[in-house]
Parts: sequence; structure tokens; C-alpha cells
Amino acid sequence: MSFEQLGLAERITKAINELGYAKPMPIQQRAIPKIVKNHDLIGIAQTGTGKTAAFTLPILSKLCQATSSDNQRHTKALIIAPTRELVHQIHENIRKYAKFTNLRTVVVTGGASEQHQIEKLQSNADIVIATPGRLLALQKGNHCQFGKLEFLVLDEADRMLDMGFLPDIIEIIRPLPNRRQTLLFSATLPKPLEKLAADFMEKPEIVEV
Ligand code: AMP
Repeated sequence: MSFEQLGLAERITKAINELGYAKPMPIQQRAIPKIVKNHDLIGIAQTGTGKTAAFTLPILSKLCQATSSDNQRHTKALIIAPTRELVHQIHENIRKYAKFTNLRTVVVTGGASEQHQIEKLQSNADIVIATPGRLLALQKGNHCQFGKLEFLVLDEADRMLDMGFLPDIIEIIRPLPNRRQTLLFSATLPKPLEKLAADFMEKPEIVEV
């Protein structure tokens, strides 16, 4: 199976080919077609399985196909991850995969200038990648425009649970638009995450690698 067969936009497969990815990894083969078809999805996968591309590629593909008819920029995708390092890693991947698109991304984490992030959020970037604590603080300060959000991703959800972020995450998700696609990636699915999925996801497909 090739990346072209997964239903991704040509602007994305071109970047993938340049990166030298020969073929999709198992989580990508199984998750990408489902995400392309608008399903909510729970991906049970460890780091190193290619899970970042499994959720970023279909989101970027859908966003770059939609932007041509939509002049008004607003945030359409929110990706939440447990640590600054992971947020920056996801950002770095998106930068590479989105090379042939004009999608814009903002990073929101602790340990960096809040004012700078607030200014960047005002530009209504297409994608926000964030750690839960800083994101919630900026959301409470009305600095996030998530009224037209279409995609929510919770990455390494079990680590966020272990780090005590579940209450913050619930508070972040509650005001988000209901008509969105939600993706949850986690190495394990403990009870509190099953409940989170039941409360905030719509008939999720489950892919386990
Ligand atoms: P992740 O599990 O998302 O941390 O990804 C692990 C590593 O695999 C990252 O360095 C990716 O750049 C790389 N990667 C992801 N998908 C592919 C692929 N289809 N072929 C080769 N490398 C890949």
C-alpha cells in the first residue's frame, strides 16, 4: 500500500515522497483512511510507531483541500500533547508535511512568552499545538478562537492522565464546537480515558497496533 492510496491530497504526498517515506507504517495504513472519512478515532499506539503522521497527515490533507475556498482564516485544528518537547516534535513534523501548503501553525506551551503566544493566536493560525496548562490559561483569558474548530487531537492521552491533566483537558474540551472530529492517541486505554472518549467522542473507531 502507498501513501497515494490512503486518500491524501497531492500536496501532502509530495512532501512525504520528498522525505523519503517509502510506505505508510501499519498505524498509518489503518488510521488514515478512517480519519479521511471523518470518523472519530482512538489509536492505541506507542511512540515510534508513526502515530504522529497517522493523525497529522489526514488533518493537513483535509485542511489544505478546504482552504482554497475559504478566505477567512480561523483555527480549525487543535492538537494537545503532554509535554513541550512533544509539542515541538509534532510542530516540526507538521512543518515538513505541510511544506507545499500555506497552512499556519502556532505553538502554545509553558516556559515561553505568554504575550508572544497571545499575539500569534490573534493571527488565527489554522493549527494550534499546545500543552494543557498554558492552553487552558489562554483559553480562560479569551485568547483562543476555537468557535470554528473542526479537529481535536489528544496525543499521548495516557501520559496526560498520569500527569494530572485530565481536569484541564475536560475544561478545554467542554466549550469546543460539538461538530468536530476528535482523535485520541494513547499507549493504553485506562478507565478515565474510556470515559473521556464516551463523553467527548462520536462512535470512535478503534485502531490498535
Ligand atoms: P512517531 O511514532 O510519530 O514518533 O514517529 C516515529 C518516526 O518515524 C518519526 O521520526 C517519523 O518521522 C518517522 N516516520 C513516520 N512515518 C514514517 C513512514 N511511513 N516511513 C518512514 N518513517 C516514518
